[in-house]
Amino acid sequence: MEEDASNVVIIGPGPAGLTAGIYCARAGLSPVVYMGSKYGGQLMLTSDVENYPGFKDPVMGPDLMEQMRAQAERVGATLIQDDVTEVNLGTYPFVVKTPNEERRALSVIVASGANPRRLNLESETRLMGKGVSNCAVCDGFFFKGKRLAVVGGGDTALEEATYLSQLASSVTVIHRRGSLRASDALQKEAFSDPKLSFMWDSAVTEVTGEKKVDGLKVKNLKTGAENWLQFDGLFVAIGYDPNTAIFRGQLDMDANGYIIARNETETNIRGVFVAGDARDFRYRQAVTAAADGCKAALDAERFLKESRSATR
Ligand code: NAP
Repeated sequence: MEEDASNVVIIGPGPAGLTAGIYCARAGLSPVVYMGSKYGGQLMLTSDVENYPGFKDPVMGPDLMEQMRAQAERVGATLIQDDVTEVNLGTYPFVVKTPNEERRALSVIVASGANPRRLNLESETRLMGKGVSNCAVCDGFFFKGKRLAVVGGGDTALEEATYLSQLASSVTVIHRRGSLRASDALQKEAFSDPKLSFMWDSAVTEVTGEKKVDGLKVKNLKTGAENWLQFDGLFVAIGYDPNTAIFRGQLDMDANGYIIARNETETNIRGVFVAGDARDFRYRQAVTAAADGCKAALDAERFLKESRSATR
Protein backbone atom coordinates (compact mmCIF):
# COMPACT_ATOMS: atom_id res chain seq x y z
CA MET A 1 0.00 0.00 0.00
CA GLU A 2 2.88 2.36 0.77
CA GLU A 3 5.20 1.31 -2.08
CA ASP A 4 4.09 4.02 -4.50
CA ALA A 5 4.16 6.81 -1.91
CA SER A 6 6.91 9.44 -1.81
CA ASN A 7 8.94 9.50 1.40
CA VAL A 8 8.62 13.25 1.77
CA VAL A 9 6.49 15.78 -0.05
CA ILE A 10 7.49 19.37 0.61
CA ILE A 11 5.02 22.14 -0.13
CA GLY A 12 6.71 25.47 -0.62
CA PRO A 13 9.08 27.23 -2.98
CA GLY A 14 11.08 29.48 -0.66
CA PRO A 15 14.17 29.02 1.51
CA ALA A 16 12.30 26.77 3.98
CA GLY A 17 11.02 24.37 1.32
CA LEU A 18 14.24 24.23 -0.68
CA THR A 19 16.45 23.76 2.37
CA ALA A 20 14.16 20.93 3.49
CA GLY A 21 14.52 19.52 -0.04
CA ILE A 22 18.32 19.72 0.11
CA TYR A 23 18.53 17.97 3.48
CA CYS A 24 15.98 15.28 2.57
CA ALA A 25 17.70 14.60 -0.75
CA ARG A 26 21.10 14.26 0.89
CA ALA A 27 19.51 11.83 3.37
CA GLY A 28 18.50 9.64 0.41
CA LEU A 29 14.77 10.32 0.80
CA SER A 30 14.15 11.40 -2.84
CA PRO A 31 11.94 14.34 -1.80
CA VAL A 32 9.39 15.95 -4.07
CA VAL A 33 9.09 19.72 -3.68
CA TYR A 34 5.99 21.47 -4.97
CA MET A 35 7.20 24.90 -5.99
CA GLY A 36 3.87 26.47 -6.91
CA SER A 37 3.30 27.96 -10.32
CA LYS A 38 5.31 31.04 -9.27
CA TYR A 39 8.34 29.75 -7.42
CA GLY A 40 10.64 31.50 -4.98
CA GLY A 41 8.58 32.97 -2.16
CA GLN A 42 9.14 36.50 -0.93
CA LEU A 43 12.79 36.63 -2.03
CA MET A 44 11.55 36.82 -5.62
CA LEU A 45 10.29 40.30 -4.73
CA THR A 46 13.51 41.42 -3.03
CA SER A 47 16.39 43.15 -4.76
CA ASP A 48 19.72 43.28 -2.91
CA VAL A 49 20.04 40.73 -0.11
CA GLU A 50 22.93 41.56 2.21
CA ASN A 51 22.03 39.54 5.28
CA TYR A 52 22.06 35.98 3.94
CA PRO A 53 25.41 34.57 5.04
CA GLY A 54 27.81 33.24 2.46
CA PHE A 55 27.71 36.13 0.01
CA LYS A 56 30.36 38.81 0.43
CA ASP A 57 28.61 41.07 -2.07
CA PRO A 58 24.86 41.70 -2.17
CA VAL A 59 22.95 38.98 -3.99
CA MET A 60 19.66 39.64 -5.78
CA GLY A 61 16.72 37.82 -4.17
CA PRO A 62 15.80 35.95 -7.38
CA ASP A 63 19.48 34.95 -7.91
CA LEU A 64 19.65 33.57 -4.37
CA MET A 65 16.51 31.53 -5.01
CA GLU A 66 17.90 30.26 -8.32
CA GLN A 67 21.04 29.07 -6.48
CA MET A 68 18.92 27.28 -3.89
CA ARG A 69 16.75 25.72 -6.58
CA ALA A 70 19.76 24.49 -8.58
CA GLN A 71 21.41 23.17 -5.40
CA ALA A 72 18.27 21.22 -4.42
CA GLU A 73 18.08 19.70 -7.90
CA ARG A 74 21.78 18.85 -7.98
CA VAL A 75 21.55 16.84 -4.76
CA GLY A 76 18.52 14.94 -6.06
CA ALA A 77 15.30 16.71 -5.07
CA THR A 78 12.50 16.55 -7.62
CA LEU A 79 11.05 20.03 -8.08
CA ILE A 80 7.57 20.34 -9.51
CA GLN A 81 6.28 23.71 -10.66
CA ASP A 82 2.66 23.24 -9.74
CA ASP A 83 0.25 24.57 -7.11
CA VAL A 84 -0.91 22.23 -4.39
CA THR A 85 -4.65 22.82 -4.25
CA GLU A 86 -5.77 20.11 -1.84
CA VAL A 87 -4.32 17.86 0.84
CA ASN A 88 -5.79 14.97 2.75
CA LEU A 89 -3.87 14.52 5.97
CA GLY A 90 -6.60 12.42 7.57
CA THR A 91 -5.52 9.33 5.65
CA TYR A 92 -2.16 7.53 5.55
CA PRO A 93 -0.19 7.74 3.38
CA PHE A 94 -1.18 11.40 3.13
CA VAL A 95 -2.54 12.66 -0.19
CA VAL A 96 -1.36 15.84 -1.93
CA LYS A 97 -3.18 17.08 -5.02
CA THR A 98 -2.41 19.63 -7.71
CA PRO A 99 -4.59 20.36 -10.76
CA ASN A 100 -2.33 17.93 -12.67
CA GLU A 101 -1.52 15.08 -10.29
CA GLU A 102 -2.22 13.32 -7.06
CA ARG A 103 0.63 12.04 -4.91
CA ARG A 104 0.75 9.89 -1.79
CA ALA A 105 3.27 10.85 0.86
CA LEU A 106 4.70 9.12 3.93
CA SER A 107 5.56 12.52 5.38
CA VAL A 108 4.76 16.10 4.48
CA ILE A 109 6.65 19.31 5.18
CA VAL A 110 4.51 22.44 4.92
CA ALA A 111 6.67 25.40 3.93
CA SER A 112 4.05 27.41 2.12
CA GLY A 113 5.12 30.80 3.52
CA ALA A 114 3.21 34.02 4.00
CA ASN A 115 2.53 37.01 1.84
CA PRO A 116 2.88 40.56 3.09
CA ARG A 117 -0.38 42.44 2.70
CA ARG A 118 -0.31 45.26 0.17
CA LEU A 119 -2.04 48.60 0.03
CA ASN A 120 -3.05 47.61 -3.50
CA LEU A 121 -1.94 50.87 -5.08
CA GLU A 122 -0.59 50.78 -8.62
CA SER A 123 2.23 53.13 -7.56
CA GLU A 124 3.15 50.84 -4.64
CA THR A 125 3.64 47.92 -7.04
CA ARG A 126 5.58 50.07 -9.54
CA LEU A 127 8.02 51.30 -6.89
CA MET A 128 8.38 48.02 -4.97
CA GLY A 129 12.12 47.52 -4.43
CA LYS A 130 12.71 51.15 -5.47
CA GLY A 131 11.86 52.70 -2.13
CA VAL A 132 8.80 50.63 -1.26
CA SER A 133 9.53 47.63 0.95
CA ASN A 134 7.83 45.14 3.23
CA CYS A 135 10.87 44.31 5.32
CA ALA A 136 12.88 46.74 7.46
CA VAL A 137 15.52 44.20 8.45
CA CYS A 138 16.05 43.36 4.75
CA ASP A 139 16.06 46.86 3.31
CA GLY A 140 16.51 49.33 6.17
CA PHE A 141 20.26 49.47 5.60
CA PHE A 142 19.69 51.16 2.22
CA PHE A 143 17.88 54.06 3.91
CA LYS A 144 20.55 55.39 6.26
CA GLY A 145 19.86 59.03 7.11
CA LYS A 146 16.64 59.10 5.00
CA ARG A 147 13.08 60.17 5.76
CA LEU A 148 10.88 57.12 5.99
CA ALA A 149 7.21 56.32 6.38
CA VAL A 150 5.75 53.12 7.80
CA VAL A 151 2.10 52.23 7.23
CA GLY A 152 0.26 50.17 9.85
CA GLY A 153 -0.70 50.17 13.49
CA GLY A 154 0.09 46.64 14.66
CA ASP A 155 3.13 44.93 16.20
CA THR A 156 4.85 44.57 12.84
CA ALA A 157 4.51 48.27 12.02
CA LEU A 158 5.97 49.38 15.33
CA GLU A 159 8.76 46.83 15.19
CA GLU A 160 9.63 47.99 11.69
CA ALA A 161 9.43 51.65 12.72
CA THR A 162 11.65 51.30 15.80
CA TYR A 163 14.17 49.25 13.82
CA LEU A 164 14.24 51.84 11.03
CA SER A 165 14.57 54.79 13.40
CA GLN A 166 18.07 53.54 14.31
CA LEU A 167 19.10 54.08 10.69
CA ALA A 168 16.84 56.77 9.25
CA SER A 169 16.81 60.50 10.01
CA SER A 170 13.08 60.29 10.79
CA VAL A 171 10.28 57.75 10.68
CA THR A 172 6.60 58.64 10.40
CA VAL A 173 4.06 55.95 11.20
CA ILE A 174 0.93 56.49 9.11
CA HIS A 175 -2.09 54.76 10.58
CA ARG A 176 -5.67 54.68 9.39
CA ARG A 177 -7.16 54.99 12.89
CA GLY A 178 -6.52 57.08 16.00
CA SER A 179 -5.19 54.25 18.14
CA LEU A 180 -2.75 51.39 17.66
CA ARG A 181 -3.39 47.69 18.01
CA ALA A 182 0.28 46.97 18.78
CA SER A 183 1.26 45.63 22.22
CA ASP A 184 1.66 48.09 25.10
CA ALA A 185 5.39 47.38 25.30
CA LEU A 186 5.94 48.23 21.63
CA GLN A 187 3.77 51.34 21.91
CA LYS A 188 5.76 52.54 24.91
CA GLU A 189 9.02 52.05 23.04
CA ALA A 190 7.69 53.82 19.94
CA PHE A 191 6.22 56.81 21.81
CA SER A 192 9.51 57.38 23.61
CA ASP A 193 11.56 57.28 20.40
CA PRO A 194 12.53 60.87 19.49
CA LYS A 195 12.90 60.07 15.79
CA LEU A 196 9.44 58.53 15.52
CA SER A 197 6.24 60.46 14.89
CA PHE A 198 2.66 59.44 14.08
CA MET A 199 0.10 60.55 11.53
CA TRP A 200 -3.28 59.39 12.76
CA ASP A 201 -6.48 58.72 10.80
CA SER A 202 -4.49 58.81 7.59
CA ALA A 203 -4.13 56.69 4.49
CA VAL A 204 -1.49 56.64 1.76
CA THR A 205 -3.29 57.17 -1.53
CA GLU A 206 -0.28 57.31 -3.86
CA VAL A 207 3.46 56.71 -3.79
CA THR A 208 5.21 59.26 -5.97
CA GLY A 209 8.54 59.17 -7.80
CA GLU A 210 9.75 58.07 -11.22
CA LYS A 211 12.72 55.77 -10.64
CA LYS A 212 12.57 55.87 -6.82
CA VAL A 213 10.22 57.06 -4.13
CA ASP A 214 10.25 60.83 -3.57
CA GLY A 215 7.07 61.25 -1.54
CA LEU A 216 3.60 60.13 -0.60
CA LYS A 217 0.11 61.47 -1.06
CA VAL A 218 -1.59 61.09 2.30
CA LYS A 219 -5.27 61.58 2.96
CA ASN A 220 -6.70 62.55 6.32
CA LEU A 221 -9.63 60.18 6.66
CA LYS A 222 -11.48 62.51 9.04
CA THR A 223 -11.24 65.74 7.08
CA GLY A 224 -10.74 64.31 3.58
CA ALA A 225 -7.77 66.65 3.05
CA GLU A 226 -4.98 65.22 0.90
CA ASN A 227 -1.37 66.40 1.08
CA TRP A 228 1.86 65.46 -0.63
CA LEU A 229 4.73 64.84 1.79
CA GLN A 230 8.37 64.26 1.02
CA PHE A 231 9.66 60.77 1.91
CA ASP A 232 12.54 58.65 0.61
CA GLY A 233 10.98 55.33 1.42
CA LEU A 234 7.77 53.58 2.40
CA PHE A 235 7.57 50.42 4.49
CA VAL A 236 4.20 48.73 4.22
CA ALA A 237 3.66 46.83 7.47
CA ILE A 238 -0.04 46.05 7.52
CA GLY A 239 0.26 42.38 8.34
CA TYR A 240 0.90 39.09 6.59
CA ASP A 241 -1.37 36.41 5.27
CA PRO A 242 0.06 32.94 5.77
CA ASN A 243 -0.55 30.63 2.79
CA THR A 244 -2.26 27.99 4.84
CA ALA A 245 -5.86 27.96 3.57
CA ILE A 246 -5.61 24.42 2.12
CA PHE A 247 -4.64 23.05 5.55
CA ARG A 248 -7.55 24.65 7.40
CA GLY A 249 -9.56 22.12 9.42
CA GLN A 250 -6.67 19.62 9.29
CA LEU A 251 -3.70 21.37 10.90
CA ASP A 252 -4.05 23.38 14.10
CA MET A 253 -3.70 27.11 13.43
CA ASP A 254 -3.87 30.30 15.44
CA ALA A 255 -6.51 32.95 14.83
CA ASN A 256 -4.36 34.53 12.09
CA GLY A 257 -3.95 31.27 10.16
CA TYR A 258 -0.37 30.51 11.25
CA ILE A 259 0.16 26.76 11.73
CA ILE A 260 0.92 25.91 15.34
CA ALA A 261 4.19 24.03 15.75
CA ARG A 262 5.08 21.98 18.78
CA ASN A 263 8.55 20.77 19.60
CA GLU A 264 10.04 22.94 16.82
CA THR A 265 8.41 21.67 13.59
CA GLU A 266 5.77 19.09 14.57
CA THR A 267 2.12 19.75 13.80
CA ASN A 268 -0.93 18.10 15.38
CA ILE A 269 -0.64 15.31 12.79
CA ARG A 270 2.24 12.87 13.19
CA GLY A 271 4.36 12.86 10.06
CA VAL A 272 3.36 16.39 9.02
CA PHE A 273 5.87 19.11 9.78
CA VAL A 274 5.86 22.86 9.30
CA ALA A 275 8.74 25.24 8.53
CA GLY A 276 9.24 28.91 7.80
CA ASP A 277 6.76 31.76 7.58
CA ALA A 278 3.72 29.45 7.52
CA ARG A 279 4.31 29.11 11.26
CA ASP A 280 6.70 31.94 12.14
CA PHE A 281 5.31 35.46 12.35
CA ARG A 282 8.18 36.61 14.51
CA TYR A 283 11.45 36.36 12.60
CA ARG A 284 10.40 35.97 8.96
CA GLN A 285 13.93 35.99 7.59
CA ALA A 286 15.27 33.93 4.69
CA VAL A 287 17.95 32.53 6.98
CA THR A 288 15.50 31.58 9.75
CA ALA A 289 13.17 29.99 7.19
CA ALA A 290 16.12 28.00 5.79
CA ALA A 291 17.08 26.87 9.30
CA ASP A 292 13.49 25.82 9.93
CA GLY A 293 13.50 23.83 6.69
CA CYS A 294 16.59 22.00 7.89
CA LYS A 295 14.91 21.17 11.21
CA ALA A 296 11.75 19.93 9.50
CA ALA A 297 13.80 17.70 7.18
CA LEU A 298 15.70 16.16 10.10
CA ASP A 299 12.42 15.66 11.96
CA ALA A 300 10.79 14.03 8.91
CA GLU A 301 13.81 11.77 8.47
CA ARG A 302 13.59 10.68 12.12
CA PHE A 303 9.84 10.09 11.79
CA LEU A 304 10.32 7.90 8.70
CA LYS A 305 13.07 5.90 10.39
CA GLU A 306 10.90 5.34 13.46
CA SER A 307 7.86 4.30 11.38
CA ARG A 308 9.97 1.86 9.37
CA SER A 309 11.41 0.22 12.47
CA ALA A 310 7.91 0.05 14.01
CA THR A 311 6.52 -1.85 10.99
CA ARG A 312 9.50 -4.25 10.78
P1 NAP B 1 -2.00 43.08 12.46
O1 NAP B 1 -1.94 42.90 13.91
O2 NAP B 1 -3.09 42.46 11.68
O3 NAP B 1 -1.95 44.64 12.19
C1 NAP B 1 -2.09 45.16 10.90
C2 NAP B 1 -2.16 46.68 11.01
O4 NAP B 1 -2.20 47.21 9.69
C3 NAP B 1 -3.40 47.17 11.75
O5 NAP B 1 -3.06 48.28 12.54
C4 NAP B 1 -4.35 47.54 10.63
O6 NAP B 1 -5.18 48.64 10.94
C5 NAP B 1 -3.41 47.98 9.54
N1 NAP B 1 -3.96 47.69 8.21
C6 NAP B 1 -4.46 46.52 7.75
N2 NAP B 1 -4.83 46.63 6.47
C7 NAP B 1 -4.59 47.93 6.11
C8 NAP B 1 -4.75 48.65 4.92
N3 NAP B 1 -5.25 48.09 3.82
N4 NAP B 1 -4.40 49.95 4.91
C9 NAP B 1 -3.88 50.54 6.02
N5 NAP B 1 -3.69 49.90 7.19
C10 NAP B 1 -4.03 48.59 7.23
O7 NAP B 1 -0.63 42.52 11.73
P2 NAP B 1 0.83 42.42 12.30
O8 NAP B 1 1.23 43.68 12.95
O9 NAP B 1 1.69 41.90 11.18
O10 NAP B 1 0.71 41.27 13.38
C11 NAP B 1 0.19 39.98 13.01
C12 NAP B 1 0.27 39.05 14.22
O11 NAP B 1 1.63 38.78 14.52
C13 NAP B 1 -0.34 39.67 15.47
O12 NAP B 1 -0.93 38.66 16.24
C14 NAP B 1 0.86 40.23 16.20
O13 NAP B 1 0.67 40.32 17.60
C15 NAP B 1 1.93 39.19 15.84
N6 NAP B 1 3.28 39.78 15.88
C16 NAP B 1 3.96 39.71 17.05
C17 NAP B 1 5.22 40.26 17.14
C18 NAP B 1 5.95 40.14 18.43
O14 NAP B 1 5.43 39.51 19.34
N7 NAP B 1 7.13 40.72 18.55
C19 NAP B 1 5.78 40.94 16.06
C20 NAP B 1 5.05 41.01 14.88
C21 NAP B 1 3.80 40.45 14.82
P3 NAP B 1 -6.34 48.53 12.03
O15 NAP B 1 -5.64 48.59 13.35
O16 NAP B 1 -7.19 49.72 11.76
O17 NAP B 1 -7.04 47.25 11.77
